[in-house]
Amino acid sequence: MPAERLMPNEESTDLVELTRSIVDKELRPGIAGVEARSEFPRQVFRTLGRAGLMSLPYPEQYGGGGQPYEIYLQALEEIASASASVGVGVSVHALSCFGLFTAGTDEQKDRWLPDMLSGDLLGAYCLSEAHAGSDPAAMRTRAVRDGDEYVINGAKAWTTHGGEADFYKVMARTSDDGGRGISCFLVPADTPGLTADSPEHKMGLRGSTTATMLFDDVRIPVERRLGDEGQGLPIALAGLDSGRLGIAAVATGLAQEALDVAVQYAKQRESFGKAIIEHQGLGFLLADMSAAVESARATYLAAARRKDAGLPFSRQASIAKLVCTDNAMKVTTDAVQVLGGAGYTTDFPVERFMREAKVMQIFEGTNQIQRLVISRDLAR
Ligand SMILES: Cc1cc2nc3c(=O)[nH]c(=O)nc-3n(C[C@H](O)[C@H](O)[C@H](O)COP(=O)(O)OP(=O)(O)OC[C@H]3O[C@@H](n4cnc5c(N)ncnc54)[C@H](O)[C@@H]3O)c2cc1C
Repeated sequence: MPAERLMPNEESTDLVELTRSIVDKELRPGIAGVEARSEFPRQVFRTLGRAGLMSLPYPEQYGGGGQPYEIYLQALEEIASASASVGVGVSVHALSCFGLFTAGTDEQKDRWLPDMLSGDLLGAYCLSEAHAGSDPAAMRTRAVRDGDEYVINGAKAWTTHGGEADFYKVMARTSDDGGRGISCFLVPADTPGLTADSPEHKMGLRGSTTATMLFDDVRIPVERRLGDEGQGLPIALAGLDSGRLGIAAVATGLAQEALDVAVQYAKQRESFGKAIIEHQGLGFLLADMSAAVESARATYLAAARRKDAGLPFSRQASIAKLVCTDNAMKVTTDAVQVLGGAGYTTDFPVERFMREAKVMQIFEGTNQIQRLVISRDLAR
């Protein structure tokens, strides 16, 4: 059963329904095979891009969909209900365009943003390093100025779309001044010296390629720096506030799908002469799952509405990421329980959902780091 949404107007209802019909046709049928084979479904991103679904939150002036986050996130949720990997990919693409949109000059935006939002290109976001995940200010990848160019050397770990993307938003050190010594660059994938290491072998989300990007004397013109030297970390972290809302919506879509599969199964499976959903012990488990999904959605929507209204939303974005991903972990784990032994096999998708939910508590800032953001804001 699709999520029951209260959209602000008819146009947004149509957009979410259109998104659902596209993913039902183009994505849902093949996704189990894609995940089982660890394939990267590049063509799906082109299909979504041509339908305008890769650029929803960006202004129409640059080829975006001009949608508020309240709407974009609900469309994203529908994509993620069919495939968490693709949902994460759409969110990461939006994140990789964010630096140019917020910190780029008008000239930089006019020049590159329309292509990045056209739907044909795919972006990636390079912040983490092997020794610098939760603490990105410890990064070592360096960009050294050489005349009109920067020369980048180092390795950016865990890059979603690593080796598949067309452009990389890269944070690299331009001075030794800790978090103030980092700058942000937009690096095209075909720049000489930029290569991808072998993809990681992951517990789940296998349809989303993750790889370390290696920078070996990668030369890029100074005009590809976004913002001033030293502004890279604030640009990266501001992007993460919005990115965390994306992950919150993806986790909610995943949880909704797990709930739907569990309810359908519980209506058909019988024990002791009746459908298992009729046993109060199991019906209440499903009720708790439903409460977790609906409250997750309400939490990310509350944060999105603050963002859309131009209000500070960093704490609310962290709360949404924390609540939605923890709830997705609980709901997907309980979905396995509802299906009993069948839930523990690959004959049903719920074991995959459970593996996919786990990573959402880890990336875009672990849920411990979300608590850090929330508690620091409270202490202010
Ligand atoms: C599938 C996947 C895709 C990813 N995609 C991207 C991407 O596209 N771009 C990108 O830049 N990164 C990406 N990442 C990296 C991700 O953001 C990091 O893995 C994450 O930030 C955690 O960093 P870490 O793995 O180094 O863990 P660590 O920082 O080593 O943390 C280990 C543990 O210590 C805890 N911890 C650390 N510091 C504190 C603290 N101060 N207080 C309490 N607990 C703490 C953490 O919560 C965690 O439980 C991806 C990761 C994965 C797994």
